[in-house]
Amino acid sequence: MEINVGRLKRHPEEVLDFSFTVAPGEPAAGELRVRSPLQVEGTVTNAGRSLFVRGNLTGEITLECSRCLEEFGFPLRVRFEQEFRPQSAGLPGFDDDFMTYHDDLLNLDDLIQQTVWLNLPMKPLCRPDCLGLCPVCGHNLNEGPCDCEPAVDPRWAPLADMKAHLRHPGQ
Ligand SMILES: [Zn+2]
Ligand SMILES: [Zn+2]
Repeated sequence: MEINVGRLKRHPEEVLDFSFTVAPGEPAAGELRVRSPLQVEGTVTNAGRSLFVRGNLTGEITLECSRCLEEFGFPLRVRFEQEFRPQSAGLPGFDDDFMTYHDDLLNLDDLIQQTVWLNLPMKPLCRPDCLGLCPVCGHNLNEGPCDCEPAVDPRWAPLADMKAHLRHPGQ
């Protein structure tokens, strides 16, 4: 996703609109894929020394549920804002505060990826009450119960251990 800022660079204070779509199946960030079209739109403002990019990103990416391991669509609706400076004017090495652009081309790929990463849940869940997989047979419990023994409530597990120990001391 590149924006030609050749003309904008010569006109301080001017604003350039941009809008593009990332199609389903395309990478959104790293291994993560777009699920329903990712709409990216915003503006680039020529602020003299820097170009300021502001915009928003709307759509859905595919995540894997951390409990049942099924894929699901995670909706994104986020704003982003980033300062860009010409690479020649930048300090050598990486700087957290601004990104750089080369010549007349402003590449938004890193910014989009970073925006997606920053808005991912720590523990993705297909739904808040996802029942997960049976720890014994691996059956997806969202599709109904399996034939295994009901699992011990984890809150009582220490007590069950203690009881087992009392019954079989020394184990
Ligand atoms: Zn799940
Ligand atoms: Zn089971």
